[in-house]
Amino acid sequence: MSRIVSIVACGALAAAILGGLAQGQQQQQPPFETKKVDGADNVYTFRYGGGQAMFIVTSAGVIATDPIGYGRPQAPTTYLEEIRKITNQPVRYVIYSHHHFDHIAGGKPFKDAGATFIAHRRAKERLTVLKDPHTILPDETFDDKRTIRLGNTTVELTYMGLNHSDSTIVMSLPREKIIYTVDTVPVGGFLGRGMIDSYPMEWEEFLKKLGAMDWERLIPGHPGAGGRLGTKQDAQDILGLLQHASAEVKVAAQEGKCWDGVEREMKLPKYASWPGYEAGLPFVLRRYCGLWGRGT
Ligand SMILES: [Zn+2]
Repeated sequence: MSRIVSIVACGALAAAILGGLAQGQQQQQPPFETKKVDGADNVYTFRYGGGQAMFIVTSAGVIATDPIGYGRPQAPTTYLEEIRKITNQPVRYVIYSHHHFDHIAGGKPFKDAGATFIAHRRAKERLTVLKDPHTILPDETFDDKRTIRLGNTTVELTYMGLNHSDSTIVMSLPREKIIYTVDTVPVGGFLGRGMIDSYPMEWEEFLKKLGAMDWERLIPGHPGAGGRLGTKQDAQDILGLLQHASAEVKVAAQEGKCWDGVEREMKLPKYASWPGYEAGLPFVLRRYCGLWGRGT
């Protein structure tokens, strides 16, 4: 090994040890990345920082999803430029996964390019009240189901009740057996801040319905460990985590230990090795104290 190579190798090793392996890997990531999904002719992921969107290139235009522009104002412009490198077809649709700004802020370049914005009805209701200056209001909404057909592609939009939010939908490509659903199934990681306004009991029911749907791969709104896509096993694992955390906090809550006792003392050792456990645990415990110790 040459001296330079060994210095680089030692530096990388030190960074991995000092920063934790996951962080070390993150530092090596380029700021954004567009990837074709293996085995699907026309489906792509676009990642910018920690946010991820899916887009589909059809013979009659592009179906894009979340602009992922919150705190990353360059992301939507880059997203559109990345699409333009693949096709000259117009972006016909932007479909919002749910109403949270970290996923849907920044759609203006797509609006200016003539895209029609679609979201669940509840997302539009919230956005209409909040008037976020960076977030484009949906042009069209739906309640339970909507099918988008464009060129040779079908995308089914389905709302299956409350989960991580009250407006989260599942976007499904039936032919490719791929789904895009955001923040409902963290792929290979623990839950975190997103618990704050979630509906944990209904989320469990949602995951059971998701498991019964016909799909093989899940594109998450934050890239999974190593950038991999999710599987039904990931959905099952998150269901198990929600059920476990719920049951543990329920007992303590009914003994009067919420908020302080639980938040200071409770651990979920079964999940201690999962990425994000230490940082995410307080959010999980607080949400379940809200449910079982407060009634909401
Ligand atoms: Zn969210």
